[in-house]
Amino acid sequence: MGAAGKSAMTNPLSDSTPAPTRAQPACRACGAPLAHTFVDLGMSPLCESFLRPDQLNQVEPFYPLHVLVCDRCWLVQLQEYVSREEIFTEYAYFSSYSDSWLAHAERYTQQMIDRFGLTADSQVMEVASNDGYLLQYFVKRGIPVLGIEPAANVAAVAIGKGVPTLVKFFGQETARDLVAQGKRADLVAGNNVLAQVNDLNDFVAGLKIVLAPHGVATIEFPHLMRLVAENQYDTIYHEHFSYFSLVAVERVFAAHGLTLFDVEELPTHGGSLRIYARHREDGTRAQTERLTALRTRERDAGLEDLAYYRSFAEQVRETKRKLLEFLICAKRQGKSVAGYGAPGKGNTMLNYCGIRTDFLDYTVDRNPYKHGRFCPGTHIPIYPPERIRETRPDYVLILPWNLKHEIMAQLAYIREWGGQFVIPIPEVHVVS
Ligand SMILES: [Zn+2]
Repeated sequence: MGAAGKSAMTNPLSDSTPAPTRAQPACRACGAPLAHTFVDLGMSPLCESFLRPDQLNQVEPFYPLHVLVCDRCWLVQLQEYVSREEIFTEYAYFSSYSDSWLAHAERYTQQMIDRFGLTADSQVMEVASNDGYLLQYFVKRGIPVLGIEPAANVAAVAIGKGVPTLVKFFGQETARDLVAQGKRADLVAGNNVLAQVNDLNDFVAGLKIVLAPHGVATIEFPHLMRLVAENQYDTIYHEHFSYFSLVAVERVFAAHGLTLFDVEELPTHGGSLRIYARHREDGTRAQTERLTALRTRERDAGLEDLAYYRSFAEQVRETKRKLLEFLICAKRQGKSVAGYGAPGKGNTMLNYCGIRTDFLDYTVDRNPYKHGRFCPGTHIPIYPPERIRETRPDYVLILPWNLKHEIMAQLAYIREWGGQFVIPIPEVHVVS
């Protein structure tokens, strides 16, 4: 528009006209208004909505991936843009397709039995028990279990393995029903579920209800401090509503009468925390030194300071530029690039970076549910892993980079034709 035209028209955003605003969202933990952006990854489709060929010509819903931070309780969070029923009632994620995750589950079982003296008289529960990948190990040891899993297709697999599973979302209502049936938990596990709960207060209040007087809840979730330190922006997706630090999660649990008494730092999912909670009234378990030490480390790193959160967005943009630089260069040299894996995190990265079949010929996955389907948004086709041996790509981009060691071992044969691995996070690098 020319200068003359501009002066003749009224500016729609002049001082007299209010600028368009979004409704001010509130913190899902403490209710404070949310005014600060952590990172904005633009619009993205649901990362587990893999498309069938007949869906490729249809409209696909895209939702914002705009992450905010609460400056009162420091919970980093995404609004609920999509209802949980839409996301979780048919879920494509089957935990048992990862060997290292199964090994993690088996180790956990042994540790909990040893530490808390679980026996045939105990009751173990798992919230979001998926396909029974964890509880199956307690069943083997003769310890009564109950899984709670909202995705009916995934729960059916668990039941088929002999893991009793209630097809429900967990919260106060489900917890009260269980208690009414005389079921309380000596151990409740929740692995990678807390982040996926929109009504966080209802969920934690449910834990308080279902826990036996001396019961222990262990909850695992990716650690926000690692997400920031290692540019793990691709772990942000619509299914993940909250991104926890220890200081933030401790506040949420305390608000519901649950006290953390221990924490472990785990290598899973790019760096996770396993917190241990008990009733505030249960004086039998003292807080560990490692809990105090991590709390101090977080405070020293700035996790109760807005500046810490404000610096993340530019760090993410730079990671994108570096990955695209690599891919553009590889394509200019006529190299072929295939993906390995089609995890949710991969779809965040591919959509945010704008990587489609122009950069990535295809990807492969061990989960047969995904074979013949296409990645949401980018429409990259998904094949069984054997495709890599057939097409001999120059580069294999590992999308579930948290499993890179396992995957590079499985795919060691690509070296036969000089193939190399590309790891995109924390920043792109090539492994020969
Ligand atoms: Zn808050």
